[in-house]
Amino acid sequence: MKKIVMKFGGTSVANGKKIRHVANLIADNRNEDCEVVAVVSALEGVTNQLIQAAEEAKKGNREYIHKFKQEILERHLTTAKEAIEDKQLEAEAKKVLIARVDELERVLKGIVYVNELSPKSKDNVISFGERLSAPILSGALKDHGLSSQHLTGGEAGIVTDSNFGEAGLLMNFTRFQLKKNLEPLLNKGTVPVLTGFIAATQDGETTTLGRGGSDYTATIVGAALDADEVWIWTDVDGLMTSDPKIVPQAKTIPELSFQEATELTIFGAKAMHPRALEPARKEGIPVRIRNVFSPDNPGTLIVKDQKVKTKDGVKAVTIVKNVAVITVSGAGMVGAPGTAAKVFELLGRENINILMISQSVSEANISLVIQRNLLERAVNTLEIALLGRDFIREIMAEDDVCVVAVLGAGMKGIPGVASRIFSAVAHEGINVRMIAQGSSELNVSFVVKEKNGEKTVRAIHKEFKLSEK
Ligand code: ADP
Ligand code: ASP
Ligand code: MG
Repeated sequence: MKKIVMKFGGTSVANGKKIRHVANLIADNRNEDCEVVAVVSALEGVTNQLIQAAEEAKKGNREYIHKFKQEILERHLTTAKEAIEDKQLEAEAKKVLIARVDELERVLKGIVYVNELSPKSKDNVISFGERLSAPILSGALKDHGLSSQHLTGGEAGIVTDSNFGEAGLLMNFTRFQLKKNLEPLLNKGTVPVLTGFIAATQDGETTTLGRGGSDYTATIVGAALDADEVWIWTDVDGLMTSDPKIVPQAKTIPELSFQEATELTIFGAKAMHPRALEPARKEGIPVRIRNVFSPDNPGTLIVKDQKVKTKDGVKAVTIVKNVAVITVSGAGMVGAPGTAAKVFELLGRENINILMISQSVSEANISLVIQRNLLERAVNTLEIALLGRDFIREIMAEDDVCVVAVLGAGMKGIPGVASRIFSAVAHEGINVRMIAQGSSELNVSFVVKEKNGEKTVRAIHKEFKLSEK
């Protein structure tokens, strides 16, 4: 018996018609020889709306909450009506939706009442997107004549620490619980529909796995159940040579190694959650990215032993937005060991992750790239600790930049790739601010002004003829 975990993103379940389509896809694949576990995201846009509602609640905006409740209930009831034909099944889903929206309203009112939005209550609020979509998809499957049951990540057995907002997985416990809870359902022919993105602490408090976390849920379940494959259904044909919204000529990459695909997701290809490949990679479970709107297309296959053809060279070019550069400089740093270590330690203590580092040959400065929303805190920390000491003369911040990353395992050992990249960029008259090459030689990344980011990506895509591969 084959076992496939299928994840459907927000764009795939934007409305009732699309949910019917998803139910069809599941029904087409599910048969005597193939079990399916479905993982579903919130309806398109809902997570963002929930975040905004939580912020408004914190400000004490009762009117907003009242209106929001009506709207979110309305949207989900309409979606259920479109997705489920059978009146009895629709009524069943409706009952769950009304109860959950009431619960959401109580949580939001609680936030209004205390005027405070802790990471814990924020997770509680944003978990409702998936808690409202799963019952609708499950109803649509029953409408199709399949047996189905919806479960939250917590109910299914996904357990995390209490790092709300970006919770850490406790895989051993999770594996045990997922098996215990899901296998009996599969054995009696039921299709479990799990909420993506959300999990629970050991005490049963709701946590989330970080934005885009439904992908991660799917591979966690795949690894726990030792699935044959994990399929990530989305709105594009697979992982592509660049974001098709920036480079319309971008092509689907048919096959990638886990390592390459991981670099791609870390460096901004928002097509997938950056941690999502970990569980599948560990267990060697192939992951496929496929287009719900063109299911005949084979998509991208991510596998363990990819035979890299050297001449493949560059495979993709991506952009990471919402970053900032900090440059720490001072002649006194030359030959003074430990400055870099000090900077990293200070930022590490503040939980500020460094995405990229480069040090000039003269050693007179170090530049680092971090998330833009952490810039103020980072600069503050460094100024307090460093300025005036250790001969550090200046700490400079730039927030109008982005990172462009050029990726591909085949780049390894091919001379001249970097020179082609930077000639292409120079040819566009674009100035490169800082450069770093990962020691894995799987990528070259560099910083340019944000306003030049998309133009840079297109220039490199063209230089390496990525749309012809
Ligand atoms: P879902 O709702 O299915 O989770 P997402 O919006 O999270 O979908 O991810 C899919 C989107 O990622 C695509 O529509 C595409 O615009 C974007 N994207 C960015 N970079 C890439 C890339 N290299 N390959 C494919 N898609 C990409
Ligand atoms: N709904 C969540 C988000 O928007 C998780 C996901 O879609 O994967 O981030
Ligand atoms: Mg996503």
